[in-house]
Amino acid sequence: MITPLIIANWKMAIDKNGVEAFKADWNSRPPMTGVDVVVAPPAPYLSVVSGLTGVSLCGQTVSENDMGAHTGEIAAAMLSDVGCQYVIVGHSERRQHQGETNAIVAQKAKRAQLAGLTPVVCVGEPSHIRAAGKAASYVRDQVLSSCDDLSDGLVIAYEPVWAIGSGEAASADVASSMHLDIKTALADRYADLRVIYGGSVKPDNCAAFTTAEGVDGLLVGGASLSAESFWNICAAAIGAE
Ligand code: PEP
Repeated sequence: MITPLIIANWKMAIDKNGVEAFKADWNSRPPMTGVDVVVAPPAPYLSVVSGLTGVSLCGQTVSENDMGAHTGEIAAAMLSDVGCQYVIVGHSERRQHQGETNAIVAQKAKRAQLAGLTPVVCVGEPSHIRAAGKAASYVRDQVLSSCDDLSDGLVIAYEPVWAIGSGEAASADVASSMHLDIKTALADRYADLRVIYGGSVKPDNCAAFTTAEGVDGLLVGGASLSAESFWNICAAAIGAE
């Protein structure tokens, strides 16, 4: 059985006081077992988050380049040095606003693996692509192009763009069907692969996803900023809520 993976993506939406408050609240709760819990804080707070009980660290992005003259960038080796085990690559906000193409995302994922990190490769269709009935082929193309030339041991986050931060989550059936398609697309390349869902996941809808076929976990944005809400989501993933 695959251990569920629940990742908090705090984006640039929390300050140091918020991180400290999360930590105090989280660490006062019973530790989580049977679920891999991961937090991706803003990079300056990675050291603060390292004190969270039972939580692995994740970068929110990584440079596609090796160490060198790249002002403002963060090398995969640096994330590894400060204790990260995972890094998100190709989040739709970065694809949209930082111009990250599938080719760049593939390079980032490769750099991550070379430094011993597990890449969390984000894919997902915008609303006009779904409306045109082309979501499956669009996501398949993203997956194959963004996961080119990787080794075993990666995570794909299926995050429909229209579901991120909108309050309008995909249905569990839509997520399940896309996850199974993603697994089929990569079946002959990678055996160690988890496919997680992201997009307006909340404590009250998360169990529908974690019990759906092909869904191995969740990537949670807004609802991960409160320790209570994120703890409840992790608990639901193991049926302990
Ligand atoms: C995200 O940005 O990865 C995300 C899933 O956000 P939200 O949960 O807020 O939709």
